[in-house]
Amino acid sequence: MRLLDFCGDVNAYKRIIFTINIEIHCSTCGALMVYHACYEVTYKSNEIITKIIILRYKCKKCNVTHALKPEFLASRHQYDTFQRQKYILQYNDISKGPISLRRLCCKLFPSLPVSHTVMYYWVRVVTTKKAVIEPLITKEIQEYSPSCDISSELLPEAEAIPSWIRNKEYSKDVTKIINWSRIYIRTTAAFRDNKISDLNIRPFIYINRILDILTAHVFL
Ligand SMILES: [Zn+2]
Repeated sequence: MRLLDFCGDVNAYKRIIFTINIEIHCSTCGALMVYHACYEVTYKSNEIITKIIILRYKCKKCNVTHALKPEFLASRHQYDTFQRQKYILQYNDISKGPISLRRLCCKLFPSLPVSHTVMYYWVRVVTTKKAVIEPLITKEIQEYSPSCDISSELLPEAEAIPSWIRNKEYSKDVTKIINWSRIYIRTTAAFRDNKISDLNIRPFIYINRILDILTAHVFL
């Protein structure tokens, strides 16, 4: 799977998908990949349920094929990436107190019924993947800035969490958020300064890199 920034939303995507000029290169040998096939999938969001065409490209040298997925459907799931992401983030946001899968569904997908099994799967699969992906991303980032000792730099900030926050889980999460924000800011700043990447405006390039590392076919 490769993620491409085709355009903004699903309607625009449907209009341009057969006319757009796509130039992608094989991640193994660098050769230009060519159109191979296409297939239809269902796309569901709170606004629309529709069928969309997914293109498949092939490297003729290596014989590998990649489905070219738009960012708004960046996985094998049928539901909009960003709406699903919002759902999982809110479900896991313990600072707002526990909320049931069903209640959150009514809040975020008022016009789209989602089965309990599907919602549970979203949450479960993210937890499993996070455990695998987190150390890999950290390792990658640390390779970009090898001289930074991230943990010692962040210690004062972690200790600055107000003492009135008694909940250990919450403190741990806040610390993690601070860590990730700092890592993100530092990394994107390095990219900006060196002008070696357009990570800021095209984050899917970085996501593709992570997917390559994992040779995974699903994201989130
Ligand atoms: Zn190739």
